[in-house]
Amino acid sequence: MDYDYIVVGRGLTGSAAARHLATAGLQVALIGPEEPRGGRGLAQGHRTHHSGVFASHYDEGRITRILDPNPYWARFAQRSIARYRPLEDITGISFYGEVGHLAVGQDEGASRDYLSALQQVAADLAVEVEILDQRALQARFPYFQFYENAVGLWQRQQAGYLSPRQHVKAQARAVELLGGCLINQEALSVGPVADGVQVETAADSYTARGAIVATGGFTHASNLLPQRLQLTVRAHTVLLAEVDGADLERLWSMPSLISKPYDAEAHFYLLPPIRYPDGHWYIKIGCSEMPPIADDLESLQKWFKGPGESAIADRLKARLSQILPDVQFPAYWVDTCVTTHTPTGYPYIDRLGESPIVTLLGGNGYAGKSADELGWIAANLLQQGQWTYDLEAAHFKLRYAT
Ligand SMILES: Cc1cc2nc3c(=O)[nH]c(=O)nc-3n(C[C@H](O)[C@H](O)[C@H](O)COP(=O)(O)OP(=O)(O)OC[C@H]3O[C@@H](n4cnc5c(N)ncnc54)[C@H](O)[C@@H]3O)c2cc1C
Repeated sequence: MDYDYIVVGRGLTGSAAARHLATAGLQVALIGPEEPRGGRGLAQGHRTHHSGVFASHYDEGRITRILDPNPYWARFAQRSIARYRPLEDITGISFYGEVGHLAVGQDEGASRDYLSALQQVAADLAVEVEILDQRALQARFPYFQFYENAVGLWQRQQAGYLSPRQHVKAQARAVELLGGCLINQEALSVGPVADGVQVETAADSYTARGAIVATGGFTHASNLLPQRLQLTVRAHTVLLAEVDGADLERLWSMPSLISKPYDAEAHFYLLPPIRYPDGHWYIKIGCSEMPPIADDLESLQKWFKGPGESAIADRLKARLSQILPDVQFPAYWVDTCVTTHTPTGYPYIDRLGESPIVTLLGGNGYAGKSADELGWIAANLLQQGQWTYDLEAAHFKLRYAT
């Protein structure tokens, strides 16, 4: 065997799984392409000439917070966040901005339920949270303009944002420091062989005792699995708005924000100013409008290379000027991305039949903050050969398409 274990997919979850395996003293190969050079716009030039797979972490901002209405996702986040600083220290790569997280809603209907669920989770997981009424919100965050009867939950610590791009780099660097191997290629096949698995790329073939497949939105496009799974890929359009000068200074301590008022169509999330590879600072805004998209290679490539949905971008621009009415934005960029969803709302972390191949698929839009723990669960299942995690395996079971 060339390695103890191979992880296919050098994204947020795959790189985390590889680090956990390497930390356990195992010989690991992490196979997957780096971000295409000369990416699009402020992401880095143009993606248009890239003919391979893309990923959902080619960005500088993902919200991270323990506060989540779902107690399991909150727990994955809590355990992941606790490992951010140690990973930064080991690798010298910083990816975490602990600026705090603000969740805002209204004391009405589903919005009230959302806030109550967050409070319950905060109590259960001993997370320090301050409740702010509209007046207190305005006093604490004077640059935001909220709606009538807004109520905020403010998680000051263990929350803020992370750079998904740098997070992946840090995990991969840790794998190398622990003696693991990074293979900058796409996998063409992953399959069981006697006593293990074989992974083929265009250039080579590698064997190991077992493998993890963590190929995100390109799982079906890559044709690595023997059968289709119940996975839905959703298309995101996000808006990046440049900030500079006095506005940038004023917004220096801005938290990440999720706003879920009574009117579900008005939901959005917001990242604070973050420096992008072009040297400029951008605020990112996105929403829950994410239509399903065909998951073949051609359709996904077209989406990643394309301009996104202009109607969504226009709505995001309008939202941005409502929430930050006094800020001047000298430039805007529209970016595209995808998320991968399961019917259970949890990732598929399961063995493919009796084979030593474990899936790590279906981030459901939340794997940015929680990737480290999800990687740990998959790494543990692969090493142990059985489920030992402290949540029921049934939540993570594969569902095949019929
Ligand atoms: C616009 C947007 C905003 C988001 N905001 C948040 C947020 O605020 N907070 C949060 O927690 N989450 C957020 N997410 C979700 C988060 O980014 C994803 O859940 C996460 O990236 C999923 O991680 P992954 O490892 O499954 O996939 P990815 O990070 O996409 O990694 C998959 C990897 O597999 C590789 N790959 C694919 N095919 C092959 C192959 N054949 N061979 C080898 N490698 C292959 C790809 O190159 C890629 O590197 C957001 C997502 C989007 C799109």
